Amino acid sequence: STMFSGIEQGPPIEVFALNKQCLEDSCPDKVNLGVGAYRTNEGKPWVLPVVRKTEISIAQNESINHEYLPVCGADAFTKAAATLLLGEKSPALAENRAFGVQSLSGTGALRLGAEFLAQKLSRRVFYFSEPTWENHFKVFTGAGFTTAKTYRYWDPSSRGIDFAGLLEDLSQAPENAVIILHACAHNPTGCDPSQEQWKQIADLMEKKKLFPFFDSAYQGFASGDPNKDAWAVRYFVERGFELFCAQSFAKNFGLYCERVGNLTIVQKDASTTAAVHSQFTLLVRAMYSNPPAFGSRIVSTVLNDPKLREEWMDCIKTMSSRIITMRQKLYDLLKKLNTPGTWEHITQQIGMFSYTGLNEAQVKRLISDFHIYLLSTGRINMCGLNEKNVEYVAKAIHAVVT
Ligand code: PLP
Repeated sequence: STMFSGIEQGPPIEVFALNKQCLEDSCPDKVNLGVGAYRTNEGKPWVLPVVRKTEISIAQNESINHEYLPVCGADAFTKAAATLLLGEKSPALAENRAFGVQSLSGTGALRLGAEFLAQKLSRRVFYFSEPTWENHFKVFTGAGFTTAKTYRYWDPSSRGIDFAGLLEDLSQAPENAVIILHACAHNPTGCDPSQEQWKQIADLMEKKKLFPFFDSAYQGFASGDPNKDAWAVRYFVERGFELFCAQSFAKNFGLYCERVGNLTIVQKDASTTAAVHSQFTLLVRAMYSNPPAFGSRIVSTVLNDPKLREEWMDCIKTMSSRIITMRQKLYDLLKKLNTPGTWEHITQQIGMFSYTGLNEAQVKRLISDFHIYLLSTGRINMCGLNEKNVEYVAKAIHAVVT
């Protein structure tokens, strides 16, 4: 007998199972619109040229060794990451009431923040948008949050934000509830609140004493401008909120597997910085002791060098504009085909994903009849589209909705 015989088979993770299914599909026309990774117009992964150049120079730099990093990460990295988020002129950084903790990409930053809130501040209630990135629930409950609540976000009829529903649900949240907010390029809907709507969300959260936990996985990748994509976070900081923001460098640097992330912590007052930092040190020490160095060295080298940083800015413009072009192409083709329904949302949505509004049965047919792989919710990764396959995809969508 084995002690493992009682272990139940866990459910597959949809996005990775779908990816595997697509990889195993031998149809030459197959299209992968599932997993959220950038692809070139040739359908290939892209190592940003500035990243390639920098990794070679790091590997060849004899003065760099493989000693442990500090528990909360390399200063050069956490400062660069927090500055990218909060801005060069951020008073919170200048006043030493904001700082960064290096993390295992965006997921690790969320987990670290959630662990702190649950263990050190006894927070138990969190809210996430309906729908949201599927991992929010697992990360927060895994960290010790016991009450998971949703706020309305997607309105299927308008294919946009259900803003009245969002405000109504957040207004019911108990004091101190942790509210997960997507900093930009909401995953999976591609719909962000307007600046006016962010102001209303901030008003409500201030009044109800709710804690904003931003998730920033797409800074710079969404619009091509990192400042624009950080607007909401900076606005909340300016208003005086204390908050957390999880940052991922997976998409905007194309460093998916290197697990480069940062948790930015903003407090009202610098007097709490040392104690809060020390508690993060203990949390990290118990979980994985020290963060990995390589990816974070690439990011800090690039962000801290004006010339390399310029080159990176060009790369994020290349990625974001290719996505915007594909949105327009897909929309134009569906229009030309006279595909039933409205499709304006495809060009209005922002970032990597589009919530197409296709239903589960239509998604099933796209997969089985056309070898086009997308999530059952109808979410597509726009980066999977290119000049060669966009017409095939548009015709397939047309076929399954008519
Ligand atoms: N948060 C959101 C909304 C995401 O879409 C992602 C990636 O898909 C992440 C966080 C974290 O990704 P990673 O852990 O790879 O940085």
